[in-house]
Amino acid sequence: MKHPLAVALCAALAVSALPVFAQTAGTGTASAAPATSAQRPADNPLFVQSTLDLRYPHFDQIQDAHFGPAFDAGMAENLREIEAIVDNPEAPTFENTIIALEKSGELLSRARVIFGSLNGTDTNDARKKIDADYAPKFAAHRDAVMLNPKLFARVDTLFKNVDSLGLDAEGKRLVERYHTMFVRAGANLTEAQKQEMRRINAESAKLGTTFSQNVLNEVNDSAVVVDTVEELDGMTEAQIAAAAEEAKTRGMEGKYVITLLNTTGQPPLPQINNRALRERVHKASVARGSRGNQYDNTEVISQILKLRAERANLMGYPNQAAFILEDSTAGTVEAVNDMLGQLAPAAVANAKLEAAELQAMIDREQAAKGEPTFQLEPWDWAYYSEKVRQDKYSFDDAQLKPYFEMKNVLENGVFFAATQLYGITFKERTDLPKYHPDTWTYDVFNEDGSQLAIFIFDPYARASKRGGAWMNSYVSQSELDGTLTVTANHQNIPKPQAGQPTLLTWDEVTTMFHEFGHSLHGMFSDVKYPFFSGTSVPRDFVEFPSQVNEMWADWPSVLANYAKHYQTSEPMPAELLAKVQAAAKFNQGFATTEYLGSAMLDQYLHQLPADQLPDGDEVMATEAAALKAAGIDYAPVPPRYRTPYFSHINGGYAAGYYAYIWSEVLDANTVQWIEQNGGLTRENGDRFRSTLLSRGGSKDAKQLFLDFTGHEPKIEPLLIKRGLAPDPKAAAN
Ligand SMILES: [Zn+2]
Repeated sequence: MKHPLAVALCAALAVSALPVFAQTAGTGTASAAPATSAQRPADNPLFVQSTLDLRYPHFDQIQDAHFGPAFDAGMAENLREIEAIVDNPEAPTFENTIIALEKSGELLSRARVIFGSLNGTDTNDARKKIDADYAPKFAAHRDAVMLNPKLFARVDTLFKNVDSLGLDAEGKRLVERYHTMFVRAGANLTEAQKQEMRRINAESAKLGTTFSQNVLNEVNDSAVVVDTVEELDGMTEAQIAAAAEEAKTRGMEGKYVITLLNTTGQPPLPQINNRALRERVHKASVARGSRGNQYDNTEVISQILKLRAERANLMGYPNQAAFILEDSTAGTVEAVNDMLGQLAPAAVANAKLEAAELQAMIDREQAAKGEPTFQLEPWDWAYYSEKVRQDKYSFDDAQLKPYFEMKNVLENGVFFAATQLYGITFKERTDLPKYHPDTWTYDVFNEDGSQLAIFIFDPYARASKRGGAWMNSYVSQSELDGTLTVTANHQNIPKPQAGQPTLLTWDEVTTMFHEFGHSLHGMFSDVKYPFFSGTSVPRDFVEFPSQVNEMWADWPSVLANYAKHYQTSEPMPAELLAKVQAAAKFNQGFATTEYLGSAMLDQYLHQLPADQLPDGDEVMATEAAALKAAGIDYAPVPPRYRTPYFSHINGGYAAGYYAYIWSEVLDANTVQWIEQNGGLTRENGDRFRSTLLSRGGSKDAKQLFLDFTGHEPKIEPLLIKRGLAPDPKAAAN
């Protein structure tokens, strides 16, 4: 009963609970200058643990100028902690080495977590500068710890004797994961190779920051300026007013500005009747990062890819993908290629069937107008698919939106489903400081009334926010630290004008459920060690619980609870709901093809050996060749992200964008299990919580899946869900 009209693709900032010294960002020289208590200025709130509930950050006291001193002192303090571990004359033990590492880096971690989130959600020139300045310093700090031979020797000794340490399963796994982490950072390299590694990491860190700053600058710089209101025909009054307002903000009063999101597709395209304007918006979108201006990312990504290939070679792998995938649930390049290769032909075939319907609609409409027909182009897809949907199912997104007022969806939909499943409850609180006025904060309680977590909701798009949707934790649960979770969900929902309600598209509704699935994974964490907290699981597993949570968006009893007209409180008419459900697999050929385009592009670029990687001026041609080689080069459906604005492959999803569909296999199997076992019940919620959501990374990821479903993952449920195989339920009707 899962009907995803669109699958939320968020970039979870999920694997954030790694020890702070092990987090990536590239080099410089980390100084071990001794910091005394005098260097802990009393007026810098980052230097002390927050006194607010659950260590919720003192957003009201934190200023941008506080970060640099906290980073410097935090790195110095962390290095002293590492020295103390290394210089301990006693033989290495679990306590004096592994636990000591787990407890180290408190100041640095706190400052980095808060900075990383604020810089992503509300950046400014000061934050951009700090980010650029410190990315190489953090990389150097990481190398200083991870490439420390004496430290690794202690971890290695424990690893080799792990069975005689008297540890429980979680402790044993912690030793093993620490060992793997050190080895994969280069701890086994020779000193000369380590020097190379430091250089590569330093350069990568600088380039990574440049890449992401260019992406944001290009989104803002590529906004489309429209001279007359006539050209905006088809857009709603509220959207037109917002476009006028945006023009005013940019000093172009009297004109209209259509802002862009970071995906290839742009939200107003289904509505804009003026074909020439659709073309302008689409072309502005796909040109981002390869226009030859100061924000061009082609040379940047070329250098990043080359450095990654160099690093993989240094580590003894043929390419970056082989290196990354070894430590994933998928395990090998072959497994990923095999999975994507199975899906691509079916997805493209589906997209072509959909295109034929769109072309027929174009032909009919043009004939009715007495005008010559034209061939379907990428900028026509969203527009005509909306028409075909209306024709086939006689509803459009605009009819749905009045039933999806944002806060109502959150409280009576997303929260309601969580209460039904897990017994947890929510209460908004207004006393905690905010980092931005457009955020909401909630206490989350267990069934017995004890506090479980604090949840921050930050829904709106703004020029200072990076694209997409994501979850992050400000504080992560662990028994060792005695902490519970403070988590936040971010989306890029257009903010309406003052006084207007925020009405969501179905896509935005499911994304809200998706992101909250990540937050549940964080909140329910019940592990001993910070290393394993919440979403600290492999990339190709982390999207699984969040995708499962999407299933409740249109679960009948959940939908009935929140899908109410924002003005009249009337429930969504049953026939409209039936149409929504009937249209579930509509346009899935497009959605799967645009996703696979990016996923296969990511694999192609990261599977190339170093000597075949493109130079900057060859990047776009290589992209075209990659799509062709993968059999996913279908012109009307360009990839969801093109290389120069593919933020995932710059961030933690390099060679990992396939993770969404890999997770979706697990998701589809789990949804099937839940549907066959009673659906929305406390029993199912508790089972999911106890076997999987609470376990974080403390157990092998695949085992967590097996614990819940009791069987190996099968691909059929995914194929059915995506309309790539016939649905036996539909056939039975
Ligand atoms: Zn996600």
